[in-house]
Amino acid sequence: MTSSDCVGKKSHGGLQPIEQALSTLLETLQPVNARQLQPLEIACNRVLAEPVVSSMDIPPHDNSAMDGYALRCADLTAREDLKLQGTALAGAPFTEKVAPGHTVRIMTGAIIPSGADAIVMQEQTEVQQGRIRFLVKPQCGDNIRRAGEDISQGQCEIDAGKRLTPADIGVLASLGIAQVNTFRPLKVAIFSTGDELVLPGNPLKEGQIYDSNRPALRTLMQSLGIEVLDLGPIPDNKAALQEAMEQATTCDAMISSGGVSVGEADYTKDMLEEMGQIHFWKLAIKPGKPFAFGHIRRCAYFGLPGNPVSAMVTFHQLVLPALRKLSGQSPRPAMLLKAKCTEPLKKNPGRMEFQRGIYCRGQDGALLVKSTGKQGSGLMTSMARANCYILLAQDQGCVAEGEVVQIQPFDDLHW
Ligand code: AMP
Ligand code: MG
Repeated sequence: MTSSDCVGKKSHGGLQPIEQALSTLLETLQPVNARQLQPLEIACNRVLAEPVVSSMDIPPHDNSAMDGYALRCADLTAREDLKLQGTALAGAPFTEKVAPGHTVRIMTGAIIPSGADAIVMQEQTEVQQGRIRFLVKPQCGDNIRRAGEDISQGQCEIDAGKRLTPADIGVLASLGIAQVNTFRPLKVAIFSTGDELVLPGNPLKEGQIYDSNRPALRTLMQSLGIEVLDLGPIPDNKAALQEAMEQATTCDAMISSGGVSVGEADYTKDMLEEMGQIHFWKLAIKPGKPFAFGHIRRCAYFGLPGNPVSAMVTFHQLVLPALRKLSGQSPRPAMLLKAKCTEPLKKNPGRMEFQRGIYCRGQDGALLVKSTGKQGSGLMTSMARANCYILLAQDQGCVAEGEVVQIQPFDDLHW
């Protein structure tokens, strides 16, 4: 794609709808293909590069789901008690066949002794001078966990493109797998731009502010297992920007904040155009209108707006899906829920809005949502207090109290 292709697709007064921007992003980006054999202990959050096919049944044997007694159900048709024959422990099987009229004490996880067809839990028995009295009549198969009922041999257990979760690590360990083939982790450079930016911990001079975007975005990416190259705050001059951007091209992607609008000190988009190509700029969303996507050589470039809420919204809504694609993950749709608004919301038609909201469950079990209050794009506390986005479509106007809206819980905004 060339820069003119996308910049030329002007709609909604030159602002691109987010759906179109997102599909351009996802079509343009190619996943990393380098792979790494990763020991299981450090494979969480890595993306699986090939499917995992089970080489065995899990559990490997029929085994007891309870501490109790293994028996043949038919032995209890005419009587209530059986003679104790021995004990089966997890890891120490009972190797004889259960004899007629006998029962075997068995612990959870122990292999079902040959001949037994049910387990009666300990709490439903009484011990009487070497004999066990059963207070219930079991059914064949009671409390027996069957071999292969969790995973059967030959089954594709985890697909390629899955980001490994702690539960996946458990599954892999249960299959005896000590290392997995994963895509190498992404390396992403980040820098903020602005002559006014100062590092937290230093005194502020007149007109200066602390750089909050870079720490927030860096933390966000580190929590995703991304290797971050932090290039710090960069002053608003082209030479300094060029140097930072050049350094950043050693990474898979670079993310800048600020300087992407039309102000006199806004140079990031200009530098992107000089050094690489711009695929699109300016979105029909609020907050987050000035957002640039492009490439400098093989490195993807995401130019986020400087306003802190805009930076985070565009990161969540555009950069995160893009990084997922780059990392080799299979695409997944956003998890959107419906919630009833407990107060009116202000909105002008024209741009899609990502308002910050707080949702909870009402007394009737249905989801309710309210705004965090003022929605200015500089008000980072509106983001910190929220637990969801309220998504209001481009053409939508104000929302009345009681109307149902779409929300995206922040829990969905993970890797
Ligand atoms: P810009 O997009 O560079 O025009 O910046 C828009 C607004 O966001 C201005 O008020 C900036 O001071 C502010 N801003 C820019 N970068 C940051 C940052 N890294 N941390 C906090 N605020 C920022
Ligand atoms: Mg600026």
